[in-house]
Amino acid sequence: MATHSCQPVTCQNGDVNLDHVFVCGSPALDFAATLRARRTARFEMLATPDRLDAWYVESGIVDAVSPSREIDVEQATTLREALYQLVTARRLGDDYDKGALAVLNSAARKPPAVPQLTPSGRWTAATPEEALSTVARLAVELLSGPDVPLLKECGNPECTRVYIDRSRGTRRQWCGMDSCGNKIKAAAYRARKRTTHTAGKRP
Ligand SMILES: [Zn+2]
Repeated sequence: MATHSCQPVTCQNGDVNLDHVFVCGSPALDFAATLRARRTARFEMLATPDRLDAWYVESGIVDAVSPSREIDVEQATTLREALYQLVTARRLGDDYDKGALAVLNSAARKPPAVPQLTPSGRWTAATPEEALSTVARLAVELLSGPDVPLLKECGNPECTRVYIDRSRGTRRQWCGMDSCGNKIKAAAYRARKRTTHTAGKRP
């Protein structure tokens, strides 16, 4: 299978941003959000081994990762779906799904990426499995930690990202202004303008 191909539907959609985005306040939540627009378009950000490797490095979890294979993508997306299920359960105060817990804990039990000190600073090189274990361990910390009451789903109904709201008075409405806030505000502005325009035309 070609590793650089992407699904035609996503390539033709000008709204879809292929860059990985880190706006959720925790790499574990950013990872859970790599399936975008879960209720509508369901756009896969980890479609190929290359994209997964890029995520591990861009997230800052590792400085270098040995090349992933298709099986690593499968394991990563399986963990991601379990993680999203657990985050959602925690956010809504529901019970954890046992299968999802087993997937997360099994990944967390494996050896993680280990940082090393070098003359030029910290360097973390890992295998995909080690990088995935680090994601799972971060998720365990997040879901058992003090940020749980701050978990919020983005106010853009299409977005479905869950983020940690550390804003004063926990008033943050969007995963990010660039990713969603500005889009929604512009849509609201257009809708208001349309209403005013239509209202002005009435006799
Ligand atoms: Zn959003």
